[in-house]
Amino acid sequence: MSESNQSDKIIEFQNVTKSYGDHVVLDALDFSVRRGEKVTIIGPSGSGKSTVLRILMTLEDIQDGVIHVAGKPLWHEEKNGQLMPASEAHLRMMRKEMGMVFQQFNLFPHMTVMRNVTEAPRQVLGLSRDKAKKRALKYLDLVGMTEHADKFPSQLSGGQQQRVGIARALAMHPNILLFDEPTSALDPELVGEVLQVIEHLASQHDLTILLVTHEMQFARQISDRVCFFDQGKFVEEGRPEEIFTEPREERTKAFLSSFL
Ligand code: ADP
Ligand code: MG
Repeated sequence: MSESNQSDKIIEFQNVTKSYGDHVVLDALDFSVRRGEKVTIIGPSGSGKSTVLRILMTLEDIQDGVIHVAGKPLWHEEKNGQLMPASEAHLRMMRKEMGMVFQQFNLFPHMTVMRNVTEAPRQVLGLSRDKAKKRALKYLDLVGMTEHADKFPSQLSGGQQQRVGIARALAMHPNILLFDEPTSALDPELVGEVLQVIEHLASQHDLTILLVTHEMQFARQISDRVCFFDQGKFVEEGRPEEIFTEPREERTKAFLSSFL
């Protein structure tokens, strides 16, 4: 593989195995995402999609394999050609590359919208109160939530909470955004407002997006590539028009037919 191909990959899983006890969730997984690429992962419940994202956020560890993010090893640092456990400083640096938006929003319930968005930039990036607030207002405006800045999460609809969740992730200026079924917990009439924000982000050339969703029409619209994931493996991947109109694998066909 050429040098330019290597550096083009912002996320790379090589031979990654993750298990809980005897239960193998990811089985010698190889997977990569190019810088700026918009990739959607689809697949049945329990197949390991969230695990892929949680591993990237270092919320879970792995039993075997190597993961590189922006060309640097996620879990280990290389010293004199040897893999060493990562230092806290290294993990902090790696986490800054990525922001994650969760299915259940995961906002801090005791903090206002403004504080939810300013907290990490202040604590992790060391921004002043004023700078963090200015930055928060920029992203709250982008998701249409400026007027709700002083409310608490419990005073918002699910769609509004999720839009705050997206603003919170953006406020850390990540290069990679991970979305884990961002609209699955929403009432149907609230799905559109969240998809609209994600669609806007997907139009940004530089941002890398890795999205897990069951919104097939949306996936088709925004993705450069769609990956069908089942039982800890990628069964099939391709351009959206390939996967959605002429899937090659029987398992992909069966899965997609359940959405018709
Ligand atoms: P998906 O997001 O595709 O629905 P997950 O990544 O959440 O799937 O889960 C994959 C598998 O790992 C499931 O069988 C699930 O039960 C199992 N699993 C996830 N988290 C844990 C955990 N903390 N302990 C044990 N098993 C887990
Ligand atoms: Mg999941």
